[in-house]
Amino acid sequence: MQTGKEKMKRNLTEQTLPELEELLASMGEPRFRAAQIYRWIHRGVQRFDEMSDLPRALRERLEKEASVSSLTLLKVLTSARDGTRKFLFGLEGGGSVETVLMAYRHGHSVCISSQAGCRMGCAFCASGILGLRRDLTAGEMLEQVLQAGRSAEKRVSHVVVMGTGEPFDNYDSLSRFLRRLHDPQGLNMSYRSITVSTCGLVPVIARFAGDFPQVNLAVSLHAPEDELRSRILPVNRSYPIGALLEACRDYSRRTGRRVTFEYALIRGINDSPDHADRLLRLLRGSLSHVNLIALNPVRETGMEGTARKEAERFRERLEKGGVPATLRRELGSDIAAACGQLRLGEEAPGSGFA
Ligand code: SAH
Repeated sequence: MQTGKEKMKRNLTEQTLPELEELLASMGEPRFRAAQIYRWIHRGVQRFDEMSDLPRALRERLEKEASVSSLTLLKVLTSARDGTRKFLFGLEGGGSVETVLMAYRHGHSVCISSQAGCRMGCAFCASGILGLRRDLTAGEMLEQVLQAGRSAEKRVSHVVVMGTGEPFDNYDSLSRFLRRLHDPQGLNMSYRSITVSTCGLVPVIARFAGDFPQVNLAVSLHAPEDELRSRILPVNRSYPIGALLEACRDYSRRTGRRVTFEYALIRGINDSPDHADRLLRLLRGSLSHVNLIALNPVRETGMEGTARKEAERFRERLEKGGVPATLRRELGSDIAAACGQLRLGEEAPGSGFA
């Protein structure tokens, strides 16, 4: 546990290289020290005494006045099935967030949380059950990537903002985080290797298209008509499907990129052949792709996922109708890797999770 005094320390992970240079200059240190510290931070180092090319006196001074880590590792679970690793991190000031590391052939993908909790209230999702606790800072998002990456055998090649939280509800920190991932002096990650997922905050989609035209956009659709979508994604009452798809078409026109639509198949709710046909009518002719996943059941919601066979039929129906669709394999289902389930188990003891 960190003491109150430590909480006051300035967290250098939050800072860009120019900001760090300014800080070191104000301490009477040469600029190149900032670049050294910046490099160590991006290697996932969490303590100044590991920064072996800094003079001891500077390390000791920094240790007293600053920090490079604000997340406390509370739990790590590794899937025996596929190696997916899930981290639960404690936040300064209380609360926790989850991060998932997925191993693919090409490298690792890290799924990060953008908020502690969420206020979107989707009916099937564990993350919203406790509401929003607070937004995460850019440094807290970056540190999830760095800490998960440090435990990985291969380099982190992709980052997806699909953990707990609605990234477009915390847009300023998200932007800062995306720029940090891309910084050539930092992780130097290509924008095309990053995906941001939104439940559909329409005005922010246009802003995102202008600011980050190369970052992949995923939109959680989950229903092909307004009545049903409003029931399972309350955000639809403010931004209905028509406005959402118009924003997506506009995004594609401006960026030349296709939008991925996420669709969690929920048994008996949105998974009939008729739902597939309606979805086809909505998306046919637009630059899009549908990512299907059988809902990961969360006990509190009472909803269940569609069986594999029916899910496959749903996918085929979309493909035959001319809309490309993939059925995602479920990673880490043995370690409660679905959205917010681990955190829920930790923060609401007795609530239980699948
Ligand atoms: N708030 C953003 C990003 C976080 S959720 C968004 O809504 O897109 C990432 C994805 O997981 C979303 O598509 C979300 O709807 C989906 N999801 C949430 N709970 C799920 C569950 N129990 N099973 C399957 N997908 C789920």
